[in-house]
Order: sequence, then C-alpha cells, then structure tokens
Amino acid sequence: MAQALDPTEVTALLHERRREALARLAGTDAERDAVVAASRESVADDEHDPEGSTIAYERRLLDALTHDQRDRLREIDEALRRVESGTYGTCTRCHRPIPVDRLRAVPTARTCVGCAGR
Ligand SMILES: [Zn+2]
Repeated sequence: MAQALDPTEVTALLHERRREALARLAGTDAERDAVVAASRESVADDEHDPEGSTIAYERRLLDALTHDQRDRLREIDEALRRVESGTYGTCTRCHRPIPVDRLRAVPTARTCVGCAGR
C-alpha cells in the first residue's frame, strides 16, 4: 500500500471538492435571491407579515451557509497550494505523514487524526 497519495489523485480529489463547493455556493446565492425577492413582495403585500421573521431567519441561515462554503473553498485552495509546494500530506503539528485513508476522506486535512483531536 502506498505511503503517500499520488499528487495527481489529490489534485483530482481537491478539484472535485472545489466544484462541489462552488455548486453549493451558486445554489445558496440563488436561494438568497429568491428569499430577497420574496421578502420584497411580502413587504409590498403587508408590512406586518408574520413571515417576515422567517425570511430574516432564512437569510441568516443562507449567509451562514455561504460563509461555510467560502471557508471550504479557502481550505481547498490552501490544500492545492500545499500539493504544489510538496508539503501536502504532512501533519503541521507532529510533521509525520498523514495516513492516506484520512486524506482520501478529508483531502483538506492539515493534521493527522491524533493531532486533530488534541
Ligand atoms: Zn500529527
């Protein structure tokens, strides 16, 4: 069994995750637009619409989701840079190789499981 992930495989994995994150981000943006449009309509209909608080809540939720996806994208880009610089797959805390299984499950992992749990 290989001691390290093939950089080609890692890059492919990371690009796949990147596409997923971008697709989710686009979906969240579309949902937010729909919520904003709905909130404008409901304000026009009735300023005391009880749905107003639901819309505010949905917007907060969508903002949080967008934030999460941006964080994820940043992590993916950082991981891709680590692949380029050759530091990918090395635990940033104990400097030992991160097990291949962990990298396959969590391609953006910066630490081994032991260090992540600390
Ligand atoms: Zn470690």
